[in-house]
Amino acid sequence: MIQKLWKHFLNVLAPQECLLCSCPLDNEALDNDIYDISQYVCQRCQDCLNPASSRDTLLSSVTHNLAPDVCRLQHIVARYAYSPVERSFAEPDTLSLSPATLLYAIKYHGKKHLARALGRELGAILRMLGIVQYHYIVPIPIHTVRRRERGYNQSEHIAYGVADVLSIPVRTSLIYRRAYTLSQTYLSSHERRNNVRTAFAVHHHSRSDINGASLLLIDDILTTGATLNTCATLLAEHGAQRIDAATVFAA
Ligand SMILES: [Zn+2]
Repeated sequence: MIQKLWKHFLNVLAPQECLLCSCPLDNEALDNDIYDISQYVCQRCQDCLNPASSRDTLLSSVTHNLAPDVCRLQHIVARYAYSPVERSFAEPDTLSLSPATLLYAIKYHGKKHLARALGRELGAILRMLGIVQYHYIVPIPIHTVRRRERGYNQSEHIAYGVADVLSIPVRTSLIYRRAYTLSQTYLSSHERRNNVRTAFAVHHHSRSDINGASLLLIDDILTTGATLNTCATLLAEHGAQRIDAATVFAA
């Protein structure tokens, strides 16, 4: 109660703003916990975020992208479409950058709690689809050097959000990132594939946990699917029975 009053008091002094449209967030939303999306994005902006394509569409586009490599992922689920939304004439330039703003916030601006909130949104979709049977949730690791620079791995926090909804343990020790790969941003899809192919490895002590396991890989954004498929291939080689992937955004 005191905590709630304090929060309201702070909000009167310096109203918390929506990350996307800068409107003040209402006090009611601030009653929710810090891992709730309403603490960061107003309802109006939430309603304007486009849902990602269906899992069948995502799977077929990844399969197409990866060919002739085999896609090892059985299901791919994403929460929000990353492509810029059509500009509406009624509200020009308000929302076309929304998904990018959120992605940058969790990736580069230290918004760990937002990452977890977005993870909960993703978890809600998985639950709705009934895709919930896993031994472990496995965030895509980042290299220790990058983790030190950034202070955290955003995919890990997304994974905790998914875990909040599905009540499945998160395992960050099954795989690790071996090479400090070049930033993917400016590479062609062929270069990306080579860049990530050798980047991951299985922790020796985790082999028995992977064998026969059903796993859900988590990443912030799905682009070509190369990174997720590299991890899936590695895990399949170590005996994982089923590997799915879920991401907050899908390009
Ligand atoms: Zn807003």
